[in-house]
Amino acid sequence: MGTHPGGVPERISDEVSCAAFLCVRRWPDGFVCPACGGSRSVTLKSRPRLFECLDCGRQTSLTAGTAMHRSKLPLTTWFWAAHVMATHSNGMSARQLEDQLGVTYKTAWLLGQKLRRSMVDPDRDLLEGVVEVDQTEIPFRAGNAFFEPGAAGKILVAGAVEVIDRSAGRRKPRRKGAKYLDTRSGRLRLAVITDNTAKSIEAFVRANVKPGATLITDGHAAYPGLSGEYRHDPRVVGNMAANVVLPWSHRAFSLLKRWALGTYHGLRRKHADAYLDEFVFRYNRRFYRHVSFETVLGLAAHRTPETYRDIVNRDAPHKRANPPRATTYRRP
Ligand SMILES: [Zn+2]
Repeated sequence: MGTHPGGVPERISDEVSCAAFLCVRRWPDGFVCPACGGSRSVTLKSRPRLFECLDCGRQTSLTAGTAMHRSKLPLTTWFWAAHVMATHSNGMSARQLEDQLGVTYKTAWLLGQKLRRSMVDPDRDLLEGVVEVDQTEIPFRAGNAFFEPGAAGKILVAGAVEVIDRSAGRRKPRRKGAKYLDTRSGRLRLAVITDNTAKSIEAFVRANVKPGATLITDGHAAYPGLSGEYRHDPRVVGNMAANVVLPWSHRAFSLLKRWALGTYHGLRRKHADAYLDEFVFRYNRRFYRHVSFETVLGLAAHRTPETYRDIVNRDAPHKRANPPRATTYRRP
């Protein structure tokens, strides 16, 4: 498959090929008319998103019921935006999207928000094996004020990351206190927590880690609520730096902070969860970003449509311990 200089696959270079790409994902076994169940359809070259049933005449929009619902933007704009957000190692701010796509700032911002919301797989599995659990604070940006790290407020973020044994190629719990050498990072989960009580962390762990897993945590904290379900292996971060005891969560947190400041000049509290999801999405797919571009679009096609109003009116901060579940698109 050839690519343009920008890296976007050729087959999504115009409206017709974008529509064909979406069509395959929406109707993997071919077009099905939502009115009569018929499978024969025609499309006009001038309106490639619209399918007309040859049996009953009903017109079905390819993007109805998706994140792209009623969007006036060309599909190529959506595809470009999904591509840069999924494949650029640091993602894209609205300002950068605005420049890249030649759209207004508001359009770029909304596009970013909508795509970011399809960067969570609703069917993702819980973390398992050996899992580091930790928390950090990241500064957030308030209002439209220019971001000043010193004056900013803080968002509390809980993180969990799988510790993978490099040699065994799988997660291998050892005796308590054992050193995990030669490891690599597995999957990551992040969420905003309202406070750093044991209760908040416990809710985060339950929502993200499979019971039976071994939890490696900062030894100063106790999580009595988890004792029956998980194997807890606390490590005291004393003279040893946190990056020795909890290397992978420490690394993920520092990447997160650098990204939040570098790409977004600080996250906004209101949308912090969506940004964390974006970061996690890219982190967990860092070795196969070009495939993840298709994932963003594939998932986007199964999202409930969200309007500008839905997104800006959302209450902040989110008090969620559970990852959001996208509503599955059903054929009407
Ligand atoms: Zn029909």
